Amino acid sequence: MFNYLSKKLAKCLTRAKNSVLITPQLIDDIFKEIRIVFLNADIEVNLVDKFLNELKEKILIDTKDVKVNANSFIIKELKKALEATFLSNNAINLKKANFSCYLICGLQGSGKTTTCAKLANLLAKEDKKVLVGSVDVYRPEALTQLKLFIKEINNDKCVFFETETKEPLKIAKEIKDFAVKNGYDYLILDTAGRLHVDKKLMFELESICKLIDPLEIFYITDANIGQMALNIFEQFKEYVNVTGIIGTKMEGMAKGGSIFSIVYKHQVPIKFLTFGEKIEDIENFDKTKIVQKILSIESPLSVLKKAKLILSEKTDEKIERRILNNQYDLNDLLLQLLQIKKFNKISKFLSFMPQMQKITPEQKEIINKRIIIFTALINSMTLKERKDPKLLKNSFRKNRIIKGSGRNNQEFNLLLRQWEQYKTLQKHLKNRNLKGFKF
Ligand code: GDP
Repeated sequence: MFNYLSKKLAKCLTRAKNSVLITPQLIDDIFKEIRIVFLNADIEVNLVDKFLNELKEKILIDTKDVKVNANSFIIKELKKALEATFLSNNAINLKKANFSCYLICGLQGSGKTTTCAKLANLLAKEDKKVLVGSVDVYRPEALTQLKLFIKEINNDKCVFFETETKEPLKIAKEIKDFAVKNGYDYLILDTAGRLHVDKKLMFELESICKLIDPLEIFYITDANIGQMALNIFEQFKEYVNVTGIIGTKMEGMAKGGSIFSIVYKHQVPIKFLTFGEKIEDIENFDKTKIVQKILSIESPLSVLKKAKLILSEKTDEKIERRILNNQYDLNDLLLQLLQIKKFNKISKFLSFMPQMQKITPEQKEIINKRIIIFTALINSMTLKERKDPKLLKNSFRKNRIIKGSGRNNQEFNLLLRQWEQYKTLQKHLKNRNLKGFKF
């Protein structure tokens, strides 16, 4: 989701990678490229300029005469600005007294009917009674489709409302009365797709809203619709008080910039994103996750998962057990270093670390060298010393090892420090906490 923005932005942001000073020229160059990416992603031009100019100004003020890692700084500021744009993480507003109604509106073909079913599926999973109905009298096939979807959910708590009535306002009233009378927790009401220029249909939508008084009015917008999406949304907003956006067809390289425009200009929160035709292809909107995705930032949890995967990929189960039992010794470290070296995992491992922007190829080289040094030192120890590093406090043993390995005092001390840290890291991994680790 937002793959287009993510892929293209990643390229612009590498520009500042090794720069330690943010100059107006550097910012201008980078922001020129970001501007093109935003425009190509279908964000409206005035909004692009407003967003980027404000951000640019702030970055220049904050970094005047200050040395910073340009790349990290720009990403951090972009992250803040995007998170502010996406408002709070607005979960669906679930409860209003005993009964809540959600009304779905938008252009024809935007994905309303499919989204109704997706929402119903989500709510039914919460063990709630959900009634799904439609006032779309103009497209009998949409009704049939929705009915089939609800059947597919195969949950007797989720019911499709059927009626012979043909007049939208009457149907709306019938459905609501039925839902209230029969103790439904939620009503999801699909409306006919309409063109924003069709005044009669827009008035009809307005009247239905007044009659139903929904807890939420979700506006469905297709991620591929382009620049005109903003204008269409504004026309809808004249008639109904939209409380949330659902962005559909977000999978693949969908641009989705139009959703950004709507949210940025009108401050309506995104509630869900959908990413496929199947009923499960819907996600609660999570701004932190989405911004991390747009900026190609690894979330702490995914960093952790990957680091865990790499560390445990070839790690002997015995070592895992020894870590858990506080028995991790220098022999275990040696085995792991050999594995990292053998499978060339060091760069990969480090690239998942939170400080990844700061690790340069030169630093990676240093770490590779360290593996060679540590291996030489550990190889010069007896098995007993590797098992019980406390013995290494003895200066006779220490000197023997240094001499035997051809290394020096500093390197020896570094090894012991890193062994302690490495032990701690792996415990942190077990406790899902990578904070503060430095190789
Ligand atoms: P409506 O006219 O607004 O009710 O739109 P529909 O729900 O009938 O959807 C129109 C088309 O878009 C259908 O072919 C759906 O399967 C498809 N569709 C809906 N949501 C998504 C989505 O998230 N991804 C993809 N790829 N297709 C979707």
